[in-house]
Amino acid sequence: MDCYACRMNRTIDTLPPRELIAADPHWRVAHAMDTSLPGWLVLLPRRHVTALAELTDQEATGLGSWQVRLSRALTEVTGCAKTYAVQFAEAEGFAHVHVHVVPRMPDLAPALRGPGVFALLNAPTEERVPPQAMDALATRLTAALRSAAPEPEA
Ligand SMILES: [Zn+2]
Repeated sequence: MDCYACRMNRTIDTLPPRELIAADPHWRVAHAMDTSLPGWLVLLPRRHVTALAELTDQEATGLGSWQVRLSRALTEVTGCAKTYAVQFAEAEGFAHVHVHVVPRMPDLAPALRGPGVFALLNAPTEERVPPQAMDALATRLTAALRSAAPEPEA
């Protein structure tokens, strides 16, 4: 089975910033590779899981907190008005669960709001965020995540 997410997870120690914005024992955060929208993130489990129902309770807890932490970092770094969080994992070769965490910019065209934002994924090569720009943004997001004050454990 060739799974892009698993291939990246296996080489986690050598990934560029855009593929490793953050990670913990259960999740990895990457910049979407084929989007024209800077800051479009994907949150991926560290093991091969193809449905949310397969997540453990521990992974589920992380899923909740990562979506909120990434949303805070995106708001700080990109100036987005809000974020979208969406999970399908239906594309051929991309069945590995991945939650899209998408910055909704204040000036996003009305037609691209809500599900319409997916028009910015699978972008033609010349419209994609260039790798160097993804890495630069990734580095800023990593710093924002690190500087965020941890909340006390409940
Ligand atoms: Zn996988």
